[in-house]
Amino acid sequence: MPYNELRKDYLLDRWVVIATERSRRPTDLSKPNQEAVKTAVCPLCIGNENMTPPATMLYQKENGEVKRSQDPLIGERTKNWLVRVIPNLFPAFSPPKQSQDLQSIAKNDRLWNAIGEHEVIVESPIHDEDPSEADIPQLELVINAYIDRLKELSIKPYVKYVSIFRNYGLEAGASLSHAHSQVIATPTVPTTVQDEEKASKAFYSEQGKCIFCDIIEQETNGPRLISENDDFVVLAPYASINPMEFWILPKKHAPNILNLTAPEVSSFAKTLKSTLKALKDLVNDPPYNYGFHLAINPESKDSYHWHLEVYPKLSTWAGFEKSAGVYINTVTPETAAESLRNAIKS
Ligand SMILES: [Zn+2]
Ligand SMILES: [Zn+2]
Ligand SMILES: [Zn+2]
Repeated sequence: MPYNELRKDYLLDRWVVIATERSRRPTDLSKPNQEAVKTAVCPLCIGNENMTPPATMLYQKENGEVKRSQDPLIGERTKNWLVRVIPNLFPAFSPPKQSQDLQSIAKNDRLWNAIGEHEVIVESPIHDEDPSEADIPQLELVINAYIDRLKELSIKPYVKYVSIFRNYGLEAGASLSHAHSQVIATPTVPTTVQDEEKASKAFYSEQGKCIFCDIIEQETNGPRLISENDDFVVLAPYASINPMEFWILPKKHAPNILNLTAPEVSSFAKTLKSTLKALKDLVNDPPYNYGFHLAINPESKDSYHWHLEVYPKLSTWAGFEKSAGVYINTVTPETAAESLRNAIKS
């Protein structure tokens, strides 16, 4: 019997056991759908704007054009919004209460104040307009909202990173079932991104090129490619730690999403929708998380390359994963890619 494979991540010092020997088909992972959280009244649905804080940013249609505005701090909230951004009611990171707090975000080596921002992006007035089902123009607005929030938050003096992510399904941590994403701005660069940045910088100084551009070139002709168009590639990473994990990478080198053109936003929306729809069809609408990895510091401009990582929640990390930090993935990335490829086509 051949051995399972122990694979190392492209960039991170992280190992995964790819269980080729007890490899499973993606459809084996299909579970009955978990009941979504049902609240009597959804605070994010249109008409219930008074149940949330005033929107710090919103898009609305005026004379056939999408306009950016915000709710007044006092008084009537906007009703005819398309996308709405609100402060999180239970923020993990909160803005400085007074300017002197900025002098001492770090108390000492082991204690910082969790100063930053935590927002909820309500992706649609329609409760279940998730990316896998959304109209492309609506999904373009969501991506534009990601860009606008990154633009606005990344220039704040206390912000070193902006994490844009989405939890879908109860088991993936979505406490509200209304289509939404979240944005957390932090006073440090989170460890995973920092490790990726370091590794890509080292690769750049050794090889004189971006490691992600290199990954794209190599994977485009290989068994882990899921889909490709003029602007983006979707692939199942070589050492993915989640069954059916996939990444979306732009072909054009860029450290972050700030300079995406309108056609690129549209192309990204279509790529995101088609892959999430394929995942949904293939494994019975599984819970998932996705998150952008990007760089906002100018030093990483040439060496870092933004991408979106999508982690379907189809397995449980148990004793070995938690205690040893080594993961076991029972669906090979090659099988994941093949099945997603076929699901996109059908
Ligand atoms: Zn709702
Ligand atoms: Zn690149
Ligand atoms: Zn990454």
